[in-house]
Amino acid sequence: MASNKSAGFATRAIHLGYNPNDHEGALTPPLHLTSTFTFENVDQGAAIFAGERPGYFYSRISNPTLDLLERRCADLEGAEAGLALASGMGAITSVLWTFLVPGDEIITDKTLYGCTFAYMRTGLARFGIKITYADMTDPQAVEAAMSDKTRIVYFETPANPNMRLVDIAAISKIAKARGAKVVVDNTYATPVLTRPIELGADIVVHSATKYMGGHGDLVGGIAVGSAEDMTQVRLVGMKDMTGAVMAPFNAMLVLRGLKTLKLRVERHCENAMIVAKMLEAHPAVGRVYFPGLASFPQHELALRQMPGFGGMIAFELKGGHDAGRTMMDRLNMIHRAVSLGDTETLIQHPASMTHSTYTPEERAAHGISEGLIRLSVGLEDIEDIIADLEQALPNVPSALAA
Ligand SMILES: *Cc1c(COP(=O)(O)O)cnc(C)c1O
Repeated sequence: MASNKSAGFATRAIHLGYNPNDHEGALTPPLHLTSTFTFENVDQGAAIFAGERPGYFYSRISNPTLDLLERRCADLEGAEAGLALASGMGAITSVLWTFLVPGDEIITDKTLYGCTFAYMRTGLARFGIKITYADMTDPQAVEAAMSDKTRIVYFETPANPNMRLVDIAAISKIAKARGAKVVVDNTYATPVLTRPIELGADIVVHSATKYMGGHGDLVGGIAVGSAEDMTQVRLVGMKDMTGAVMAPFNAMLVLRGLKTLKLRVERHCENAMIVAKMLEAHPAVGRVYFPGLASFPQHELALRQMPGFGGMIAFELKGGHDAGRTMMDRLNMIHRAVSLGDTETLIQHPASMTHSTYTPEERAAHGISEGLIRLSVGLEDIEDIIADLEQALPNVPSALAA
């Protein structure tokens, strides 16, 4: 099936760009485990190298298994082209290294995934790029932060770990008016719930390690955008600056993950909604951050921008950091682990784990409280997820009896 926008999301995630008749009738696309590609003669090799004729020459630049994954991801995100990279950080760094030069400025939200924050603060800044943090929940703050040097506006929505949302259309309009590119990390929402390109963003990046792969068995990254931008990232950021190309075997696993992406995300959303409501009603729980709750400060934006609210929840216990730690250690089925978007429900403590790249002062300034707990609601039976959380939370009868 070639690109066919009239087919639905799940259908395209399963069929797009692959015809078994071209591959001995194999239902599943072949895995091209090869580092290099042979040339019939020197002229043909030279022409492929020069980009004068299509073809593969080395798997750090392109590979047929990655090619299929790239086309599917681009299509699902509503973009022209895509790139498969070694990790989410490989995607983020390859994109930003491609477009930033010393003297440029990047405007980013206060809240970012910990390694992205560290990459900007100590990586990009070291090479003469100015990092400006703006509260992107307030488009006027972004407008005020823009300068003639602003080259890129970068954010996550929902943001890792505190679930802040960014109005993609509003921010894209502001950035476009000043000639800046908008780069969105869409790891949390996935293209099932948000397609930033359709709302005006230029480039979308993913940690494919999370929902795209979906099974906790790989590390990978995806970038999508215009064909021109993706060619630049392929030939500059990825090929020469980071070398962060995805392995063909991982591309095959992500292709498999994509086939059930819609199905999985729908169930993640359903389960997370039930868990968020249980937590909100629980006497030991202080605040719950979940876009689907009416109490969520940006619930109105969530309703406008997301057809479902995702599988991620952040919450704080009334007993603060210590109560949270005790509760996490009491869990039986739910695993204490970083990463997210897997079939397994995973729980972690950002201040000591994923966001330990921030100093305590930075966490306070960037809206990540010390007691915040991040829960990635998995695909187990909802009764079992709820039961494990309830027995671990303080002050419930079953926990006291235990
Ligand atoms: C995990 C994550 C990343 C980094 O991805 P890796 O695949 O671990 O390199 C980037 N952004 C977000 C929002 C993440 O959750």
